[in-house]
Amino acid sequence: MDAQKAYPKSAQAWRLAERFLAGGVNSPVRAFTGVDAKPLFIERAAGSKIYDIDGNEYIDYVGSWGPMILGHAHPKVLQAIQTAAKNGTSFGAPTLAETSLAEKIVAAFDSIEKVRLVSSGTEAVMTAIRLARAYTKRDLIIKMAGCYHGHSDCLLVAAGSGVAESLKLKAKNVKLRNSTLLPFDFEPLTCPSSAGVPDSLAGLTIVVPYNDIDAVRAALAKHKDKIAAVLIEPIAANMGVIPPVDGYLATIRDLCGAGGAILIFDEVITGFRVAYGGAQELFGLKADITCLGKIIGGGLPLAALGARADIMDMLAPSGPVYQAGTLSGNPIATAAANATLDILRGSGIGIRGSAESQSTIHNTPYTQLESSAAALEAGLASAAKEVGVTVTINRVGSIMSCFFTDRPVRNFADVQATNIKQFKKFFAHMLNQGIYLAPSAYEAMFVSLPHTQEDIEKTIEAARKSFRKVTV
Ligand code: PLP
Repeated sequence: MDAQKAYPKSAQAWRLAERFLAGGVNSPVRAFTGVDAKPLFIERAAGSKIYDIDGNEYIDYVGSWGPMILGHAHPKVLQAIQTAAKNGTSFGAPTLAETSLAEKIVAAFDSIEKVRLVSSGTEAVMTAIRLARAYTKRDLIIKMAGCYHGHSDCLLVAAGSGVAESLKLKAKNVKLRNSTLLPFDFEPLTCPSSAGVPDSLAGLTIVVPYNDIDAVRAALAKHKDKIAAVLIEPIAANMGVIPPVDGYLATIRDLCGAGGAILIFDEVITGFRVAYGGAQELFGLKADITCLGKIIGGGLPLAALGARADIMDMLAPSGPVYQAGTLSGNPIATAAANATLDILRGSGIGIRGSAESQSTIHNTPYTQLESSAAALEAGLASAAKEVGVTVTINRVGSIMSCFFTDRPVRNFADVQATNIKQFKKFFAHMLNQGIYLAPSAYEAMFVSLPHTQEDIEKTIEAARKSFRKVTV
């Protein structure tokens, strides 16, 4: 990092955090190891901006890794949180707000008749898998390399983003036991999973490359009658953003139907992000089980899974599949969730503080996000071209990634072949110019509703300067 911005307080805070917190952070990717730097400590955030403890301001494209689609500290969400908190912070008993939230989720997704609220995306996917296994009476799961589905044991196999960064780090320091079993003889990917995951569990997960329909077909054929579920991020966003190629998801849908496997769409990122009804609305498809998180929590710990009633009724107490949570459906998180979905659905007022900004069908939150993100994509592409840096930008609505490569990026192997050194330089120069990107080449950029035209222009200008520096 050059001298434009100084981070003395963050540097000091990091030394203290390293003493008392495992690895200095409570979630690995926050540690900035993916960009060979030390993290900034954040004091506050508002709208599209985030402020570190040294008083530096940034235009934020991390958005807490996806939830903050309305921007930070949205007044309506804060108001809902305050009102809920005054009535008590947790009851461990049913509330009206939980049913109201479930009703909204059911209304948003054609594939969902019933919902279970949980506290994290990890829990949502873990439970979806348990349900799929119980429903099908089968054990194996197919997942795509580079897709991340939280940190439950079976899913820490070729898991993209934070896992990929942390494995690189470990590989430098410790010789990791290669614990991953891929019971898949034509599978070219061999990615070690986390230490502590028994081989017997990792071995239940079959990994195939994203966007490779033949690999899914072959895995289903090979393990006929043993595949409980195909689990996929319908738009991959944990190896950077990778859209599905034409027909890929629809064919997986058909294959699952024909083979009696449950199709789980992990829409923890895409749900309420790429459209109100997520990737399923965008592509006109129905998953069997849908996992949601991030946006539905409105910035608080809340996630969900939903499916047809015959699947969901297998959950305890109505069925034999156990799942529970002390803080599930927590009243404060549920209040933030309801407020967020109301605004996104268009019944709330004032994403940018004015009633007009979203009052017509022509200017829904999603058209606004699309136009901001499209402007950013176009600006980044033209800045890179002007400077002579080759990039591939993948974007779906308000999530995008700028990969340093001259090739298309369609799967995890493509991402790994991009120029990560250039990304690291780009990241550092952007940060110094007040642009807060995810500190990893494997993550998405999240555009939020309060990102103004001025924010986008500033970002493009900063990118023009940063692109110039990446080749030196
Ligand atoms: N699924 C996807 C697609 C995710 O991106 C994530 C988190 O980034 C998860 C699941 C896990 O969610 P959480 O971090 O809330 O446990």
